[in-house]
This record gives sequence, C-alpha cells and structure tokens, in this order.
Amino acid sequence: MFDYTAPEQLLNDRVILITGAGDGIGRAAAIDTARLGATVILLGRTLEKLEAVYDEIENAGYAQAAIYPLDLRTATDEDYISLAQVIEDEFGGLDGLVHNASILGQRTPLSNYESRTWNLVMHINATAPFMMTQALLPLLEVSKDASIIFTSSGVGAQGKAYWGAYSVSKFATEGMAQVLADETENTSKIRVNIVDPGATRTSMRAQAYPGENPLQNPLPKDIMPVYQYLLGPDSIGITGQRFKAQ
Ligand code: NDP
Repeated sequence: MFDYTAPEQLLNDRVILITGAGDGIGRAAAIDTARLGATVILLGRTLEKLEAVYDEIENAGYAQAAIYPLDLRTATDEDYISLAQVIEDEFGGLDGLVHNASILGQRTPLSNYESRTWNLVMHINATAPFMMTQALLPLLEVSKDASIIFTSSGVGAQGKAYWGAYSVSKFATEGMAQVLADETENTSKIRVNIVDPGATRTSMRAQAYPGENPLQNPLPKDIMPVYQYLLGPDSIGITGQRFKAQ
C-alpha cells in the first residue's frame, strides 16, 4: 500500500470535486476526503447513491458535502460551464478534482468489439474528463495549490488482450494527464497526477473478474493514502507522475 499517514484536518478549507462519488473507490474517496475536512462535491449519475454518501458524511459529522448529479455520457460543454459557475457561486473556488468515474465496456477481442460501446467508453472515460477539466481550469488556476488526479489502471500503461476500449481510454487518460501536467507546470500552481488504484473490491472489479474471490482484494477505503497525499499540501510541487495506490 502507498505509504502515507494523513494528519487530521489535512484537507480543511479545500473544496474537492470527485466524479463517480456514489460507489466504489469514488464513494470511499468522498467520505475520506470529508473526514479530513474538505467540502466535497459528490458528482455522479445516480442520485440515490449520491444521497446515501451525503447522508453518511452528514451522520459522521464530517464537513458538509454537496451533491451534483451529472451523467458524463450526455453532459455537454454548457453543462460543464454551468458546473463551474455553480462551484464558483456556492463555494468560491475549487482546490481538487478527482477524475474517478469510468465504465468497463466489453471484455472481448478487438475483432469483436462494438464501435458503439467503444465510443461510449472513450467518451465517459477520456473525453468527459477532458471537457470537465477544461471548464474547471479557471477555478483551479486561482486556487493556492490545486490538485488534479486522473484515474488509470494497469491496462492504461500496458495493453492487455480483451480489455478493448477500457485499456485504450486509460492510455488516453494518462496521455491527457501528462499533457496537462506539462502545460501547467511552469504557468500555474496546479499539479496533475495519475493514480492506478490496483485490484480493489468494487462492482467494476467483480464485473471484470466474475470468477475471482472478492475478499482477496482490499476495500476502497484501504487504498486512500495516495489520494490523501495527492490532494493535500504534502504533494505540492509533485506533478506529471504516476502513482500506484497499492
Ligand atoms: P465502480 O463501477 O464501482 O464505480 C464507478 C463510478 O463511476 C460509479 O459511481 C458510477 O456511477 C460512476 N459512473 C459511471 N458512469 C458514469 C457516468 N456516465 N456519469 C457519471 N458517473 C458515472 O468502479 P471502481 O470504483 O472500481 O472504479 C473507480 C475508478 O478506478 C475507475 O476509473 C476505474 O477504471 C479505476 N480502477 C478500478 C480498479 C478496481 O479494481 N476496482 C482497478 C484499476 C482502475 P453509478 O454507480 O451510478 O453507476
């Protein structure tokens, strides 16, 4: 596991948006980030799941969260501009952006891969984070030290049979993170890094490996140290790097 112990209140006074915050790793990151003092914007497509996470944060007495339902499949440039406007109006800025939401798509050879699914996976996993980042950059640029995390995968660094568009979308994600890190390095205080969560006990993992015993993988809450490190001030100056959560 990535070795980092977060001090209490590490993320006090930070506003952090997490996509796919209703389930899996995003849900764990949202709860943990609120526990450490941040105002978390819970973005996702299923309102009930976001409400459940909101309630969990509220009941634990952590910093109050906010819900922003948005489907990355259909969201337009205008939707992302509205998101930026709402964040500015409600919170006055943005200090962290965790691109976590993704879909798996088909697990099949390229020879058999449906182009419709291909486009959907590429859009949700790579194009939507690009559109959202572009709209939120002006807010991140005025933060005292903003952190953007892009979520990749083992198959985002080494292609593997039957992983199709998911693998290619994660290569694209890593490329985008590198481009943005290079563009922001000397022009802003924004840091941009990549996290590969590693095998983690979520519904996506179960979908990808139906025959596997889920108990052999850590829970999402166990892989939080790398997210804590990258979102908090201890990672100031670290940009363009790829981190393994485990
Ligand atoms: P889950 O499937 O458990 O959660 C994915 C989240 O993304 C859900 O909250 C889901 O919402 C949301 N989401 C999916 N599509 C959309 C959409 N169109 N609009 C808005 N939100 C959407 O996945 P994990 O927690 O396992 O994965 C999180 C990240 O980690 C992903 O980027 C994944 O690729 C990566 N990863 C995971 C690994 C693992 O072993 N679990 C290993 C390597 C990488 P809803 O619940 O409403 O469907």
